[in-house]
Amino acid sequence: MAKDIRPSGGFGTLAVHAGQTPDPVTGAIMTPVYQTSTFVQEAPAAHRGYEYARVSNPTRTALEENLAALEGASHGICFASGMAALDAMLKRLRPGDHVLGMADIYAGTIRLFREVFEPYGLTFGFVDMTDLEAVEAAVRPETKLLWIETPTNPLLRVVDIAAVSEIAHASGVAVAVDNTFASPFLQQPLALGADLSLHSTTKYFGGHSDVVGGAVLTNDDAWAESLRFQAKASGAVPAPLDCFLALRSAKTLHLRMERHCRNARAIAAFLREHPKVGPVYYPGLPDDPGYETARKQMRDFGGMVSFSLKNDRMEHAVRAMTNLRIVSLAESLGGVESLIEHPATMTHAFLSREEREDAGITDSLMRLSVGVEDEADLIHDLETALAAA
Ligand SMILES: *Cc1c(COP(=O)(O)O)cnc(C)c1O
Repeated sequence: MAKDIRPSGGFGTLAVHAGQTPDPVTGAIMTPVYQTSTFVQEAPAAHRGYEYARVSNPTRTALEENLAALEGASHGICFASGMAALDAMLKRLRPGDHVLGMADIYAGTIRLFREVFEPYGLTFGFVDMTDLEAVEAAVRPETKLLWIETPTNPLLRVVDIAAVSEIAHASGVAVAVDNTFASPFLQQPLALGADLSLHSTTKYFGGHSDVVGGAVLTNDDAWAESLRFQAKASGAVPAPLDCFLALRSAKTLHLRMERHCRNARAIAAFLREHPKVGPVYYPGLPDDPGYETARKQMRDFGGMVSFSLKNDRMEHAVRAMTNLRIVSLAESLGGVESLIEHPATMTHAFLSREEREDAGITDSLMRLSVGVEDEADLIHDLETALAAA
């Protein structure tokens, strides 16, 4: 049975081993998929820590302990998806409570805020969190949670987690960071002062575009208790096989991220020089507004690159995207294969034109999730597609 062994060591050692011990019955080195709904008790209430699989499951426990170790958290709580994790977090709040977020974030997060929780009486405000004075001014007496996403989606802006956490904590406001775009390898929100770190493990953590999942990591016992209660009470828990897949992926997270970052850096440099390409958004470009903060709080700059065309013509962007041969046109990100998407008509289509323009999501903006293929092949693919644009 998986138990918390917390090996000490560097990130790679933890990624491979944390949360896992060889199966005591068979010696299997991989944590089994405990595909069971219930656990036999020796006498009423005499069990081995597991009673019913909605509450907990050993494969899930191994994944939770692995994730917690990777971000230096004392608690990891896994959910069926990233949105389920956020949903569970927001259910700790009460009508009248205010959440302060930012406009340039995952579109599904905004949808959950507005269309699910606003009708239940939570209120949401949005502020540019790269502007610390604006953050300070936007915190209200009823603000309970500050929601940071960094790097942001799709413009890859960088928020100073330590500085914003300091402002929030001065007013007794809890800070949550959506760490999905960075992954635990590149960014450690709790060490920077945040109270909660959220992942869509569907993305970089899972990394192979074959599983949907979510997790929250925290050192705050009251938050952890509330999140475990939500998992048990509302039941948005991950299946054992999905936990197994995520746990297997964890073992190569550091290797994949190194390649994602290296390829993304090369592609950002290539795009920057291309005559048809307008703005390139990548925090690893030294003149990017997020560069200094990213250097301070991230191990590397990540695998996401967004860019638009100089003429900003949507039909030219569409022609470029449909002429790619290696890079696939699809939503999602963080997998080993490169993906491209068009925020204005895909991930951010539900925003009004005005909201999109305010957020800087122009007609030709494309968001590239750079995979781990060979750099030269990716650049050749982009070059050919841009020639057709
Ligand atoms: C995908 C994503 C989510 C939602 O996660 P799901 O696993 O799809 O529910 C939340 N935040 C970010 C930044 C994401 O990319």
